[in-house]
Amino acid sequence: MSRLALDSVSKVYPGGVRAVRGVSFECGEGDITALLGPSGCGKSSTMRMIAGLESVTGGEIRLNGRRVNEAAPRERNVSLAFESYALYSPLTVRENLAFPLESRGLSRADVAARVRRVAEALRLTDVLDEKPARLSGGQAQRVSLARALARNPDVLLLDEPLSHLDYRLRVELRARIRRLHDEGGAATIYVTHDQEEAVALADRIVVMNDGEIQQIGDADALWNRPANRFVAGFLGSPSMNFMPGNLDGAGGVSTPAGRVSGLRTPPGEGRIEIGFRPEDVAVDSPGDGDNRLAGTVVVGEYQGDHCVLTVDTAGGRVRAVTPADREPAPEEPVSLVVDSARAHLFDPETGAAVSGPRGAVV
Ligand code: ADP
Ligand code: MG
Repeated sequence: MSRLALDSVSKVYPGGVRAVRGVSFECGEGDITALLGPSGCGKSSTMRMIAGLESVTGGEIRLNGRRVNEAAPRERNVSLAFESYALYSPLTVRENLAFPLESRGLSRADVAARVRRVAEALRLTDVLDEKPARLSGGQAQRVSLARALARNPDVLLLDEPLSHLDYRLRVELRARIRRLHDEGGAATIYVTHDQEEAVALADRIVVMNDGEIQQIGDADALWNRPANRFVAGFLGSPSMNFMPGNLDGAGGVSTPAGRVSGLRTPPGEGRIEIGFRPEDVAVDSPGDGDNRLAGTVVVGEYQGDHCVLTVDTAGGRVRAVTPADREPAPEEPVSLVVDSARAHLFDPETGAAVSGPRGAVV
């Protein structure tokens, strides 16, 4: 039995916004599940329903096997840290951290020890005696996160808890969150729109778009076997290139910029969309042959150890990650050499993956 289970959960707000549509996933004790998706895709609505702060329109939420749709927030052993911090302004940071623990009947010594532990982990020791009004946005966010972690709940909900911190501190703190989490063992849902954070922290990633789950998997599955065009394009920066084409019935796809062969294609002919990552494209002098797409360089962005090249082709604009030592000039004609063994094919109507890299099961 999972600590937390969502079964076809949906949310329609008054006024008709369908924010969450038929979402199902589970999270076990000690697991971190990341909810990853663009702004507005329904992540926070899902979290608020789990916490009991928002009514559930359809489906069921279960905690430890028990339906909690109608349960008040305090009847669920759920602790949450949201993007906005909701700290008690008359209390010091120390008191903000201690208050929820004291009200659960922990001994004075236990409370003090836990407060010290989370304050150290989240680098708050120096501000324990400050009031929230004196804190920076990043500090206040860390206090909110520390308060949620200190409680050691059954389910821990973290909604973009590091969004107000600079990059370095985010990277440092996510490792500390993982460690604190592993000591406590709560089922944790971690909301982020940052794929790097999701990959670094989570055991499992739930990708959402437009209120619906697109795919559930680990980083390897999402990267190498994306279920559809949305997931393929959302993970990776610069993102995957897409080009329209036609299956030629002989293991190849003809695109307006050239033929790609050696693909694991479905049988038959017809329209198809091919996808290939910028990392799987090499740049060469113009020449004929399969897997060579003709193009003209628009711009090269030098990135230190590599170069991101933007190339116009008859099949659309393509990005290629190339070694920094050969940076073609704007207007230069080039061949884009596609590693077809790593290409993906998508249904042009539905966006569903019809075939992934050779050897990969979609
Ligand atoms: P995310 O956290 O992924 O950015 P949200 O769950 O906050 O997404 O929002 C999902 C959708 O629901 C958005 O279209 C948003 O405008 C809408 N929404 C969120 N909260 C409310 C609300 N209280 N009333 C009406 N619409 C809302
Ligand atoms: Mg949100």
